[in-house]
Amino acid sequence: IVQLYSPLNFFGMYYRTLQGNFVDMENLFDLLKQEKEVVDKPEAAELCLKGGSVKFENVSFAYSSQPILKNISFHVPPGKTLALVGPSGSGKSTIIRLIFRFYNIESGSIQIDGQNINVITQESLRKAIGVVPQDTVLFNNTIKYNIQYGRLDAQETDVIEAARGADIHNKILTFKDGYETQVGERGLRLSGGEKQRVAIARTLLKSPQIVLLDEATSALDTQTERNIQESLNKMCSNRTTIIVAHRLSTIIHADEILVLKEGIIVERGRHDYLLEQNGVYAAMWHQQLISNNESLENT
Ligand code: ATP
Repeated sequence: IVQLYSPLNFFGMYYRTLQGNFVDMENLFDLLKQEKEVVDKPEAAELCLKGGSVKFENVSFAYSSQPILKNISFHVPPGKTLALVGPSGSGKSTIIRLIFRFYNIESGSIQIDGQNINVITQESLRKAIGVVPQDTVLFNNTIKYNIQYGRLDAQETDVIEAARGADIHNKILTFKDGYETQVGERGLRLSGGEKQRVAIARTLLKSPQIVLLDEATSALDTQTERNIQESLNKMCSNRTTIIVAHRLSTIIHADEILVLKEGIIVERGRHDYLLEQNGVYAAMWHQQLISNNESLENT
């Protein structure tokens, strides 16, 4: 049952409701009991996963009355990468939440491998999807448990392999109690970069066909950033990936980039094409180059 609900704490209102980064399981379940607006249809079937394609067809959505997404369409073929960029509040994270079916949409459809997510069980949907959130929630438990959370029946050797893949194994060995070290607010506190690695390890262990990645806005130092990027790239290769990107340098190789503004796709295409268009994306790109140079000059 934990597996069933596990990713709910990562996004949206659940996430916003949490106090700080650390929660106890009990609190998590209380939160989940309160907010369950999406229910499986009685005839809901299991998702029949093939390559993990994700398709939006004319999706419109509002949290209350104010429309947030307007007529969004895109298709991410199996194994490809879609990046979402745009100003704050433009609807990027909302798209991610909808794929997870935190909310039902008003019109249009969302399909995974050709199956409308409204008519499949949430459990089977969420089993197919791994999430790396901006800020990872750690449980007051051992570091081992925190990684194992990606697949609770995983063997210890698999946990270690995932930790290696996320490049955090060696770090864990430096802790006094190794994998049994207590983390969370009642234990060892991990840095932002380490928490992200825990999230990557969890996802590696879960080994989903589809990965949703909400890039951290908070800056990590450049070296940490680069190392994490490597682990992320490894995790995303051969998986369908949808990434909310804040640093455009990380999505140069994305198969498609959607530029959102007030819930509308204003530009779309690959990085080079979008630069040639000299529009919103190009302006964002040049703006980032300038601020990067400024921060370099200040160091
Ligand atoms: P950011 O880059 O700041 O994360 P975003 O592009 O991901 O922004 P969303 O989080 O998708 O934007 O939010 C889109 C709009 O929906 C915003 O105006 C936001 O205030 C609103 N919104 C988000 N979550 C909720 C919610 N649970 N209830 C009501 N409105 C919401």
